[in-house]
Amino acid sequence: MTKHKHGYETTPWELRWRGMDVEALQRTESTFALSNGHIGLRGTLEESEPRGLPGTYLNGFYEQHELPYAEAGYGYPEAGETVVNVTDGKIIRLLVEDEPLDMRYGNASKHDRVLDFRAGTLTRTTEWSSPTGRRVRVRTERLVSFTQRAVAAIRYEVTPLDDGMQLVVQSDLLANEPIESDTSDPRVAAALEAPLVSEFAAAEGYHAVLVHRTRVSGLRMAAAMDHQVEVSDGMRTQIHAEDDLARLTVAVDVPPGETLTITKFLGYGWSAQRSIPALRAQVEAALAGGRQTGWEGLKAEQREFLDVFWSSADIEIDGDIELQQAVRFALFHLLQAGARGESRAIPGKGLTGPGYDGHAFWDSESFVLPVLTYTIPDAARDALRWRHSTLDKARDRARQLGLRGAAFPWRSISGAECSAYWPAGTAAFHVSADIADAVIRYLAATGDADFDRDCGAEILFETARLWASLGHYDRHNRFRIDGVTGPDEYSAIADNNVYTNLMAQRNLAAAAHAAGRHPAVASRLEVSTGEIADWRAAAAGMYIPYDEELGVHPQSEGFTQHMEWDFAGTPREHYPLLLHYPYFDLYRKQVIKQADLVLALHVCGDSFTAEEKARDFAYYEARTVRDSSLSAGTQSVIAAEVGQLDLAYDYLAEAALTDLHDVHNNVRNGLHMASLAGAWIGIIAGFAGMRDHAGKLTFAPRLPDQLDRIAFRMCFRGSAFEVEIRRDEVSYRVTSGKPLELTHHGQAIMVGDDTITKPIPKLESAPPITQPSGREPTRRDAHTPNRGPEK
Ligand code: BGC
Repeated sequence: MTKHKHGYETTPWELRWRGMDVEALQRTESTFALSNGHIGLRGTLEESEPRGLPGTYLNGFYEQHELPYAEAGYGYPEAGETVVNVTDGKIIRLLVEDEPLDMRYGNASKHDRVLDFRAGTLTRTTEWSSPTGRRVRVRTERLVSFTQRAVAAIRYEVTPLDDGMQLVVQSDLLANEPIESDTSDPRVAAALEAPLVSEFAAAEGYHAVLVHRTRVSGLRMAAAMDHQVEVSDGMRTQIHAEDDLARLTVAVDVPPGETLTITKFLGYGWSAQRSIPALRAQVEAALAGGRQTGWEGLKAEQREFLDVFWSSADIEIDGDIELQQAVRFALFHLLQAGARGESRAIPGKGLTGPGYDGHAFWDSESFVLPVLTYTIPDAARDALRWRHSTLDKARDRARQLGLRGAAFPWRSISGAECSAYWPAGTAAFHVSADIADAVIRYLAATGDADFDRDCGAEILFETARLWASLGHYDRHNRFRIDGVTGPDEYSAIADNNVYTNLMAQRNLAAAAHAAGRHPAVASRLEVSTGEIADWRAAAAGMYIPYDEELGVHPQSEGFTQHMEWDFAGTPREHYPLLLHYPYFDLYRKQVIKQADLVLALHVCGDSFTAEEKARDFAYYEARTVRDSSLSAGTQSVIAAEVGQLDLAYDYLAEAALTDLHDVHNNVRNGLHMASLAGAWIGIIAGFAGMRDHAGKLTFAPRLPDQLDRIAFRMCFRGSAFEVEIRRDEVSYRVTSGKPLELTHHGQAIMVGDDTITKPIPKLESAPPITQPSGREPTRRDAHTPNRGPEK
């Protein structure tokens, strides 16, 4: 086992941090966060201080505030939404003979925190001696249940290490916890200062409940706690509840060698509509369920849930143990973000922190959902159901913009547009095609006819309507989509962004197809045959600009004519550029924040030849600065496709380690779900070369020199299968379900439960590719100590 320079120990199935480092708390609270997609608990210490940024979140629960504009304009979104730090149930304070356990005082001879990817728990073991020399061992273990979505639980054990002693434990529910705000906008800060208004508080025995509501958004939430206390005898307890605090106090003399064990069960719920008694009843019922299952039962269910997940989603990597750990860390957090969201969004940070105000972006459909679609497809379906449930808001937005169909928001919690910067918000219309694409992928991967009929077809129709009304035919009869912003946020309001146009083309064609499958849905939505013909025609006539002279696709029309950015004259400390140069200058030059045309090469790869891909990739590599964490995973995919395996490996490592290495220096605000997804994408679409064009699953695997073997599992059309890539050959095997037709390096293969092994064709050597100076990915040293097998 080795400790890497970023503080964590490198082990394949867990994330461990040894020792107390107050400075590192903020980022470890994010990496150690537990969530099931409904409840999110940051990894704060039970005693709540020292702390970085405490956080307890309920998916979809937000406060509303005015959006600031210096200058007004028609159609600007008026209300912002910000995730609320709800009632904190994690707090358990300990008094050791009058002295509070506080890691800043006394001495911790041992302090160890472990996030276990198979158990789904966060454990902590601390041996602490108080300033006056009284020694205790505290062991805690917590989980946010995957099986009971409204339930979390904490096991808290204290053992006196020398003599017996008096211990006092206070277990809290605390609302309106004061936190320092990161925001520079005083309106947001004001909205978030004590955002919860108390409505009800009750306590009895070991049990308490608090109900609160937000001031402006008017959402109601309830948190309840219950306890089991195990100690030999001589215990006094007291419980009380007031507006923002409920507290159980346990005072007990613990003899030497004995342990005080408290199990705290938490129930959470929120609603926009339910009454106080109804919500109270809901959380108390959840809590009763959790208690009935019991601590051991909840742990057993948690492990079982994860066993099933890993059996269909694990990735094994031989030759780079740190990458192995990072990829499992990524999968674990993606599962946590999506598993039990159930018709709520998957925010850009999951439920691990307040970053991006808790908003969901295209990050979920374009990055997270491809992973979930092939590993835990029900979670992908539920996230798409959330989009479906927001269709009315998207229709309203389209109407407000003078368009037809549905314009999904750039960033939102409720489904309403919350982006106050329209050039990179409203104008980023591709989000609607990204959602349609996620629907198409999900349907192809699962054949889920119910979802298609109930949600999928409607999303496809309404997004197709958007494109049909947004674009127009020019005098050459080409269907153009002008004045939009593609994925690269260092360009805006451009004409015919290739990525957007290709995605819109696919969206239009898929909608026409869906109309054939679902005439009843089409007729309910008044989709006429003329409209379907228009969609087909727009798809067929879609304009894809090409620069004949350079032999590359311009990211958007005219892009390759723009002035080059002076990379040589840009000092390293001026990245990210958006913090050092005005947008107008970024917008008019050839400098790329994140994969845009290169993302098209991946997602719409069937629209490019192999030669075009190689030339386009080289062109955009030289101009891409990767100021967004969404980029490296995609660059890894195309680097692998064009035969740049070393480069692909470096990009993959960057995507996978974004949070563990805190590459963007902002992990305190939460993890980057899209770049965690980029780790999976970099392996499965990169080194394994998986593509899912036109609903077919194809592979073109190759290992970089640095790795000895990659084996992974995924599912498709109800079958689970595994792929094992070795240096010269690959084997495929269906582990459950029907045989599958797959493609290996262009050759169709039928894969059943017998292993099929195929050779890997030789790779032609590819010419070197360059990046802007200083923006090359960090070369991953194949011989760092972290690579070796676990000692
Ligand atoms: C990226 C967007 C992304 C957003 C949220 C921005 O920096 O440019 O593409 O959606 O972050 O992750």
